[in-house]
Amino acid sequence: MRYLDKSALGLHEDWYGNNAAICCTSCGKVFLVSAVLHRKGRSCPACGLCSATVTKSQVAITEPTDLPTTKAHP
Ligand SMILES: [Zn+2]
Repeated sequence: MRYLDKSALGLHEDWYGNNAAICCTSCGKVFLVSAVLHRKGRSCPACGLCSATVTKSQVAITEPTDLPTTKAHP
């Protein structure tokens, strides 16, 4: 889990009001997340591995490594 820093947005990140564009940490796809449209967050439309949630005060990005893994070595 990491959070966007409004004062230090990356080259492939943007954040304006209730909307944020983030870069998938898994595949590099840039996708839009809205606090209004995606109340429970949105997964990367390309790979689905990374997801982001916009709230009033922060943009949280969940990476695949954050998810609980049932099997480390399938
Ligand atoms: Zn992706």
